[in-house]
Amino acid sequence: MFDNLTSRLSVVIKTLRGEARLTEANIQDALREVRMALLEADVALPVVKEFIARVKEKAVGKEVMSSLSPGQALVGVVHQELIAIMGGEKTDINLAAVPPAVILMAGLQGAGKTTSSGKLAKWLMEQKKKKVLLVSCDIYRPAAIQQLELLAKQIGAAFFPVQAGQQPKEIAAAALDFARRHFHDVMIVDTAGRLAIDEAMMAEISALETLLKPIETLFVVDAMQGQDAVNTAKAFAEALPLTGIILTKLDGDARGGAALSVLQVTGKPIKFAGVAEKMTGLEAFHPDRMASRILGMGDVLGLIEEAQRGVDQQAAENLAKKIKSGKSFDLNDFKMQFQQMRNMGGMGAMMDKLPTQLTQAAQKVKMDDKVMGRTEGIINAMTPQERVKPEILKASRKRRIATGAGVTVQEVNRLLAQFEQTQKMMKMMNKGGMAKMLRGMKG
Ligand code: GDP
Repeated sequence: MFDNLTSRLSVVIKTLRGEARLTEANIQDALREVRMALLEADVALPVVKEFIARVKEKAVGKEVMSSLSPGQALVGVVHQELIAIMGGEKTDINLAAVPPAVILMAGLQGAGKTTSSGKLAKWLMEQKKKKVLLVSCDIYRPAAIQQLELLAKQIGAAFFPVQAGQQPKEIAAAALDFARRHFHDVMIVDTAGRLAIDEAMMAEISALETLLKPIETLFVVDAMQGQDAVNTAKAFAEALPLTGIILTKLDGDARGGAALSVLQVTGKPIKFAGVAEKMTGLEAFHPDRMASRILGMGDVLGLIEEAQRGVDQQAAENLAKKIKSGKSFDLNDFKMQFQQMRNMGGMGAMMDKLPTQLTQAAQKVKMDDKVMGRTEGIINAMTPQERVKPEILKASRKRRIATGAGVTVQEVNRLLAQFEQTQKMMKMMNKGGMAKMLRGMKG
């Protein structure tokens, strides 16, 4: 899947070099490669255009971190935008309804509706501990109802028995009543496959939607159908209040374009991905994992991630050595730490990485991102001598620094108190092993 994107980007990484900043000129060729690769993967043209525009906007002017090549930095931007175009965060299935929560399955014949109904039932039973009822309203395809019944048996889900001659609306109403009386948490309703252009069929599923008031109306779409699938999705989205997408057959030789286009075209998130024929072959859809899979560059992505964490390894190691050798931690080191924290995406991001002991200490001195910026300003206003020997900071020097940094003397005092706290923390860390802490930060 998306093999071409990977190989085209590999070329880009090698050729885009030697620049400290990404510019419109230096990324032009690279963007052309990305564009070609997306079109080859059957991503819809408007989506490609929008995607390229977004990557360009994010990339131009971006500084390239010292540990990355410009090509790698651009891959980082492409990766982020791939995630964004697929919805960013994972979108959970919504079951917040008076039971039964009804899930209506819509889609073309052969898309994988019946199979996905079974898989979803299994997933809800296992992952969410729900009591699930499977219902088939597909009276047109002779074996459809039996197919779902068989799957229900296989996974141990309840199945609603259909009487001969019942119409879809009658089945739906009776099933809803049955589910209420038998305390089912969730009722999954499989429908007949239909073409969007078939007005009678579309009217029927609309009527089912009105009757059942589903909390989720999921459009099941075959990833292998590429652009066709996306166009159908659009027609369905216009006719039915869809709430999400199930993208099936991602295990096949799908070129993958549908994964990128479908959200953009329908405005609905992909909630699940079908990755095998068997009943366990359904996964919650994670845009970030999908983006990594599409790029297929585990090594480069790892590198980018590490750089984005922004630990300037050399500086950090120098600091570790300095502290180990018994030299005191001064305000220059303090400032460097702030800069590193900022590179790492602020205090919040770093807190997750630090050992608890240090996190607690840092919380005690109440460092947040805003304070971090002011702190740097104050240290900048000090002379080199003052930074190395903070003990010489008496009232008049403090006043000068406060004026220079545009803060009050109290703030300077607060910073010095924080610095002392951190100095103590560093001594503590030295005992506990600075090297260990830095490894933790890299992790
Ligand atoms: P429906 O007409 O929409 O109900 O489609 P079906 O559920 O009958 O599926 C059509 C075919 O696609 C069947 O052979 C399924 O086994 C197969 N299928 C469905 N989902 C997947 C999937 O995620 N991966 C693979 N490999 N096959 C799938």
